Amino acid sequence: MPSVPGLPPTEQLVTGLARLGQAIRIGARRDPGPYALSELQGDIVSFLAGDLRPRRQSEVVRALASTAPTISDAVRTLLAKELVERERDALDSRAVVLTLTPAGVAEAERLTGVSPDVRAAISALAPDDLAAMLRGTTTIIRELQDRRAIPVTRMCLTCRFFAPDAHPEDPARPHHCLFADAPFGDAELRVTCSDHEPAPTP
Ligand code: SF4
Repeated sequence: MPSVPGLPPTEQLVTGLARLGQAIRIGARRDPGPYALSELQGDIVSFLAGDLRPRRQSEVVRALASTAPTISDAVRTLLAKELVERERDALDSRAVVLTLTPAGVAEAERLTGVSPDVRAAISALAPDDLAAMLRGTTTIIRELQDRRAIPVTRMCLTCRFFAPDAHPEDPARPHHCLFADAPFGDAELRVTCSDHEPAPTP
């Protein structure tokens, strides 16, 4: 039977994701901004913005799959640029915690800014397509995290409060967030959530 020409579906998807990534990067990340942040410094600022509670420096090392000396260097630069504050952890004087300064919060917002064109294109998706994309995207991210190919993100699929398919009787909202005690559907899957707590490793 004849088939349509071109690469197989997985390769088509990889190409499509690469094009999307390119579109999303065009904008804030291409512009180093007023503080001329390196990629790692930008990642630290974005990570700290995901949850404005003080975060241990060791957590940043783990989340960004980096090393203590590398993160220490980057944090020193961020301290000098007054984007981050560092102090002793009240619970453990051997540890230090990091928080963003108001300038750091503003820089995080700039870094995560997405062009209006990308937002408009995503808004044009039908609700079912949006839910399917979120489900597929979070599944791919989880696979990559399991393979330690990317840093861990604070998403539902790795959260101890996530109860998938807890409501099979409701196809629109089959999952349950135990933190909010609320059912939700694929379209509300979080790729980043400030209430996330890591699920125990199986
Ligand atoms: S707390 Fe956040 S990440 Fe965890 S299941 Fe609920 S919505 Fe998802």
